[in-house]
Amino acid sequence: MENCIFCSILAHDIPSHKVYEDDKVYAFLDITQVTPGHTLVIPKKHVSDIFEYDETLAADVFSRIPKIARALEASFPEMEGLNIINNNKEIAYQSVFHSHIHLIPRYGKEDDFAIHFGNHMENYRAEDLATLAAKIKAQVKSE
Ligand code: 5GP
Ligand code: ZN
Repeated sequence: MENCIFCSILAHDIPSHKVYEDDKVYAFLDITQVTPGHTLVIPKKHVSDIFEYDETLAADVFSRIPKIARALEASFPEMEGLNIINNNKEIAYQSVFHSHIHLIPRYGKEDDFAIHFGNHMENYRAEDLATLAAKIKAQVKSE
């Protein structure tokens, strides 16, 4: 797709540091290196975000992630963990609109990556959760 940074990387119009490639998927170092080894995994097919994946594309992309995760683990013995992040839409911090999965190695609490999970469990009774779950369940489509 025109004017897509990651399509330009796939076309080798913009250089990148590849860590893995096959016919469906490309993985390369994120330019910002939030932590050392910060890697992006992208489908070669341009899709904007998770809402545009079908099951086949999802299988193609997500099935590659464990082996790339293990490659990071093997490369960085000091790595203590790994965050796998996929931002969808601007509100959710997506800034490049060619879908991508961040693999962010973790080296300790002061490694310059943070994520905040609010806890609002006191606002939800079991019946509130049941209503929410039923609402979502009714929208899950078979593909
Ligand atoms: P998002 O904010 O959309 O979840 O993540 C986009 C990521 O793409 C950012 O972490 C940013 O550093 C990375 N990025 C943006 N432009 C380039 C580029 O030209 N090359 C590389 N390697 N990464 C990029
Ligand atoms: Zn693209």
